[in-house]
Amino acid sequence: MTGQVAIIGGGFSGTMLAVQLLRRGIGRVSLIEPSGKPGRGLAYGAAHPTHLLNVRAGGMSAYPDDPGHFARWLEWRGGGDAAAFAPRLVYAEYVQEQLREAVANAPGRLELIEDEASDVAATAAGAAVGLAGGGRIEADAAVLAIGNSPPKPPRMLAEAGLPPERFFADPWLPGATDRLASDDAVLVIGTGLTMVDVVLLLEQRGFAGPILALSRRGLLPRSHAAGPQPQPRSELPTTVASALLREVREQGEAAGWRQAVDALRPVTQDLWQAATPDVRGRFLRHLRPWWDVHRHRIAPEIHARLQGMIESGQLRVAAGKLVSADSRPDGAGVSWRPRGANEVEHLTVARIINCTGPEADMHGSSDPLLRTLVGSGAIRPDPLGIGIDVDNESRVVGADGRARNSLFALGPITRGTFWEIVAVPDIRTQVAGVAARLSELH
Ligand SMILES: Cc1cc2nc3c(=O)[nH]c(=O)nc-3n(C[C@H](O)[C@H](O)[C@H](O)COP(=O)(O)OP(=O)(O)OC[C@H]3O[C@@H](n4cnc5c(N)ncnc54)[C@H](O)[C@@H]3O)c2cc1C
Repeated sequence: MTGQVAIIGGGFSGTMLAVQLLRRGIGRVSLIEPSGKPGRGLAYGAAHPTHLLNVRAGGMSAYPDDPGHFARWLEWRGGGDAAAFAPRLVYAEYVQEQLREAVANAPGRLELIEDEASDVAATAAGAAVGLAGGGRIEADAAVLAIGNSPPKPPRMLAEAGLPPERFFADPWLPGATDRLASDDAVLVIGTGLTMVDVVLLLEQRGFAGPILALSRRGLLPRSHAAGPQPQPRSELPTTVASALLREVREQGEAAGWRQAVDALRPVTQDLWQAATPDVRGRFLRHLRPWWDVHRHRIAPEIHARLQGMIESGQLRVAAGKLVSADSRPDGAGVSWRPRGANEVEHLTVARIINCTGPEADMHGSSDPLLRTLVGSGAIRPDPLGIGIDVDNESRVVGADGRARNSLFALGPITRGTFWEIVAVPDIRTQVAGVAARLSELH
């Protein structure tokens, strides 16, 4: 058996790539994951038992050629049917089980490395991955499966001199929702899916104080419908941006916005790739916030809990802009201006939690591996600045403009090329494609 592949990152993408490669007979798979616990990643590892998947079980199979796999697994465990929104921790168990089974069928071929990759360099034989702990792994190819970068805090907050217990720039760090008195005030920056997670965690912990969630537009993720799922469309609609927008609006009025948005799912990547760079840029500038809240929805039960907090007055979701922030003896002083208003509002909070979503711009990345790789020219930011440049086969494009068979990338960092590549239904197809390509090559 031949071929060695080094996978950097053991979240869903990296773990399922390992599974697919072991199944395809690759000789040695090195899976590098700092936590030492593959199969969880940020999405399914940092979760609380009450955090639910935001995709129904019927859409969460790890295998593109067996779309009902997770739903059957869940049902067999008595966890619900294809329409259920399972706990994210249960999904981590599912992915881990896939890896255990693949390893049992290919003994001795997976090497799990509990370390962080610090560099990847091209070699005559393929790629060499440097490890923060000092080791080095030689392989025929390496695959970046490092998920999203941590969020970048708004400059004003980063420079406000707030002590660490007052300002959490990364909401996933341990302690972000700890050590608050039950009636403290909290400011959450961002009103998307991360905010939903953080606010529900606060509620779960018995926090009863006021929470202000603030973003430029104050848009909240919409809820999935409780009834039957919308039908996808198979044909590619018009690729003329203005006509497509009109068509989606008309469909939305006729059949409901969920139908109009979900119908595009199977063809979103094709639409993105058919769009000119100018159209992609305009979509990001003008439509992205609306697309995100309609496309990346939350489970109806999560939506109901959030609405309950809004109706009780505990949670206020507002559109506005931070004007200033400073450190005070009794907390963080914050001024903000509601969208469209002249008056500034002031408040003092015990904590500010940054939920602005992942940092996508590689130029200013706080991720040491990405910084090193941009510096060495092994990767380059994609033209839109929302990830790294890859070709249609997920091969990384270096600073010289060449894509090589020795370095691939998976998941959210490839969204510049694929756009619809942040959730399981799309990543599993990308993973299977890269596994097939790697086993052909090696
Ligand atoms: C909170 C949250 C909830 C989500 N819920 C859903 C959902 O319900 N349904 C859905 O389809 N999608 C969901 N998603 C989308 C999610 O992006 C994908 O489903 C998928 O989990 C992405 O997996 P990944 O492996 O690409 O990234 P991640 O899960 O982020 O995993 C990346 C891994 O890389 C490791 N890593 C990072 N840097 C290095 C390095 N230098 N060296 C070695 N390892 C490194 C990290 O430790 C991490 O384990 C959610 C995302 C988040 C953040």
